[in-house]
Amino acid sequence: MAISRRDILKLSGVTAVATTINGCYSPNNPEPSNTTKTIKFNKAPIADSTNPRVVVVGGGWSGLAIAKYTKIFAPNSDVILVEQRHEFVSCPLSNLWLVDKIKLEYLTHDYLQAARENNYTYFHSTAIGLDKENRILQTSNGDIKFDYLVFATGIDYDYSRWTKDIAFETRLRQEYPAGFIPGSEHISIRNKVLNFKGGNFILTVPSGNYRCLPAPYERACVIADYFKQKKLKAKVILLDENNAITIKAKGFQSAFDELYGDYLEYYPNTVISKIDLDKKIVETEFDEINFEEAAFYPQVRGAKILEKVGIAKDAKNKLEGDINPLTYEVIGEKNIFITGDSRPMGFSKSGNTSNSEGQHVAKLIAQKINKTKKVKWYPPTTTCFSAVSIEPEKAIYIYTQYAYNKTTKTFNFASTHSSENWKKDGAVNAASIYNWADALYLDMFNNK
Ligand SMILES: Cc1cc2nc3c(=O)[nH]c(=O)nc-3n(C[C@H](O)[C@H](O)[C@H](O)COP(=O)(O)OP(=O)(O)OC[C@H]3O[C@@H](n4cnc5c(N)ncnc54)[C@H](O)[C@@H]3O)c2cc1C
Repeated sequence: MAISRRDILKLSGVTAVATTINGCYSPNNPEPSNTTKTIKFNKAPIADSTNPRVVVVGGGWSGLAIAKYTKIFAPNSDVILVEQRHEFVSCPLSNLWLVDKIKLEYLTHDYLQAARENNYTYFHSTAIGLDKENRILQTSNGDIKFDYLVFATGIDYDYSRWTKDIAFETRLRQEYPAGFIPGSEHISIRNKVLNFKGGNFILTVPSGNYRCLPAPYERACVIADYFKQKKLKAKVILLDENNAITIKAKGFQSAFDELYGDYLEYYPNTVISKIDLDKKIVETEFDEINFEEAAFYPQVRGAKILEKVGIAKDAKNKLEGDINPLTYEVIGEKNIFITGDSRPMGFSKSGNTSNSEGQHVAKLIAQKINKTKKVKWYPPTTTCFSAVSIEPEKAIYIYTQYAYNKTTKTFNFASTHSSENWKKDGAVNAASIYNWADALYLDMFNNK
């Protein structure tokens, strides 16, 4: 007797609800695509709930804040954090770990604890597709129904300015990782630094609104300091596509000049025209530079998953027209949001920005759930401490908020304070690096 479709579904444990998913994988088409396909609802192992469900994709600085604060502002919500990593590793302060100043444990945090303490569910899985109509998120570990959905999925790299050759791009990613997404990239760079025997160590700064404006300059300072302490015959070569240091310029420039004369060379306005990985030579318009080691930081873009699931036409080109910059809603989808470094708005791509913005987005979602009066736009806050030396520890600092210009529909800096005189305030600022990190880790992973 032939087995009916219903029997097969029963046997495989698949609920017999057909649905359409954007970006789903199929055996005949291993590439996820934007085309709409009919697939079966394959329920994720998550307890059902009759409460409004908020699914947050991405457990970074943005997603962790949204998950926690949505539960605070809308306690009756059922919040699920979908994250592809097993543990959280912080990008902020990672430059200090590259040079052995702090321990990896300080950067590493527990998603399970964050979820336990803040009453939401951490679901270890990768989001791979979306059925907007039926409000179903497809993940590598099953499908989840949602009422509200947030993509806080961070960045991807964009190597297209350097190469269109995927094989070459793969070599760059693998042999000379940028180190602006946590995990193996950071371990690779750390090993390169700690085992460096001498010569040129190239770092690059991309143009555009790249992740963490000060971090490449901070990295150059701390690696140069490390070489200096070790008395290596070594130099950090910092190739910057921008005309000048993009942030805290006075503080970084004076550190370059006064602390690392023999250990750091800074080249502004320098676009790489060719990288020869076999000969280990970088060509620019003016120079050919040999290198022993390097970390090539390409331009960045909104996470590719946004295109794959069909909520952004082109996350590479700023998602313009794809999201409402004041409400973070995907245009035409009032229950789907894009936040954090994936967002197109020109805010600084920083953890602090993502965290403060995340708290605001949680309020926006809670307002919809609670059906209370509209929440006013609240500007995100960028607070960023950067080390300029590790021995002794000195740092510089910037704080800024943003204002929205209704006429031009653009965001500008509203108020900015900085402390860049590291000779005078460097030690106090350096202590504040840890105070800031302690406060943010506590906020994200504890019930504080
Ligand atoms: C070296 C360095 C130093 C920095 N220093 C500072 C600093 O001093 N201060 C500061 O404020 N900021 C700093 N930053 C910037 C900060 O790390 C980022 O701005 C911040 O991480 C952005 O948060 P996010 O949540 O948008 O993205 P992320 O933190 O990248 O989080 C995105 C998450 O989404 C997950 N994800 C992506 N796709 C999927 C998917 N399909 N399914 C499931 N999960 C998915 C990822 O695994 C990741 O955990 C620094 C960054 C670097 C690299």
